[in-house]
Amino acid sequence: MTLTRADLEALDRDDPLAGFRSRFSLPEGVIYLDGNSLGVLPKATAARLADVVQREWGMDLIRSWNSAGWIDLPQRVGGLIAGIVGAEPDEVVAADSTSVNLFKLAAAAVRLRPGRRVILSEPGNFPTDLYILQGLAEMLDGQVEVRLAERERLAEALTDEVALLLLTHVHYKTGRVHDMAGLTAAAHRAGALTLWDLSHSAGALDVELNRCNADLAVGCGYKYLNGGPGAPAFLYVARRHQDAVRPPLSGWMGHAAPFDFRDDYAPAPGITRHLCGTPSILGLAALEEGVRIMAEADMAQVRAKSVRMGDLFIQLVGQMCPDAFGLLSPRDGSLRGSQVSLTHPQGHAMVQALIARGVIGDFRAPDVLRFGFTPLYLRYVDVWDASRHLAEVVRSGEWQEERFQARGKVT
Ligand SMILES: *Cc1c(COP(=O)(O)O)cnc(C)c1O
Repeated sequence: MTLTRADLEALDRDDPLAGFRSRFSLPEGVIYLDGNSLGVLPKATAARLADVVQREWGMDLIRSWNSAGWIDLPQRVGGLIAGIVGAEPDEVVAADSTSVNLFKLAAAAVRLRPGRRVILSEPGNFPTDLYILQGLAEMLDGQVEVRLAERERLAEALTDEVALLLLTHVHYKTGRVHDMAGLTAAAHRAGALTLWDLSHSAGALDVELNRCNADLAVGCGYKYLNGGPGAPAFLYVARRHQDAVRPPLSGWMGHAAPFDFRDDYAPAPGITRHLCGTPSILGLAALEEGVRIMAEADMAQVRAKSVRMGDLFIQLVGQMCPDAFGLLSPRDGSLRGSQVSLTHPQGHAMVQALIARGVIGDFRAPDVLRFGFTPLYLRYVDVWDASRHLAEVVRSGEWQEERFQARGKVT
């Protein structure tokens, strides 16, 4: 059946999430399909940051650690994120970057499985995940080995040497979703722990860490959680592991009594021990505003709209420019995260031409055009309009213009 723009307008009229769009500050004339890389600015964030800067910092100064609750902000924001990823409030804390949290939890996990030296992951995982493991293995000089197995081979690679299985739940390039429940169960049968990177799933899918019996997780604050550029990340430790996990970055903010100023380290109880140094209050305040909006949304509705938008985009691209692109993401929406990745050898120039038309997606080497669908601030008609622009870029050949050939430092 051929779709018309009116079909998508009808979906917008029935959209239970439509009211969220007005809470975001979207520039005029832009269709933003890159919320999977940097989420948009919630309107409340600008006012919140002005207040934190002018009143909490400017007027109240150091008193704000107590009076404005700065000292508890990592746990407070973590508690809100917990509700989005299927965890309990005391199992999540906001801190550091995803990369640093990967290091902290991977290093702690191998100590929980003495006698096992392998950390298992998959080739093509997000680079920082692999780089952090490689650094850890190098630092521990042979006590840890990083082993990679293709997705289809992971189950058989879970031998009794494996201490930890580290996977990114939704693949950043393909958008493919791992079976978190199934792989966690397989890892546990083999005696291994799991560490899930939720960077492309938190705020995009109905993640169920506790229902899946997950052990450890990390995730990103500036993508679907709309925390702003370089926002603090988060980490999760299942309650049953919390007393056993020894943080490798044993900083004073994770100490049981930081303001006793003792010489000897003693980890704080629970999730707090995973803090390291003084948290970035401006970053956490911005993240809290993004997460607060997300926490108000029904994640089942978010997931349903995200899958539908992806399905519609795939259908419309096929309808408007048949055979122009390869489809890298799964066609089956239940196997796909909140993005659709197309392939074309001239993908980079095409994305640049689209951006010039106000449709912002991104490009991932060597040939991937990536489009993220964020249900809280995108309308179904945006999917139509973006598809039409893409088809016009292909038809006109405008991507061949000189100005679309240059590559920036960040793609
Ligand atoms: C975005 C992303 C990160 C980002 O890590 P940073 O430390 O914030 O740079 C890590 N892992 C995955 C899978 C990501 O998608």
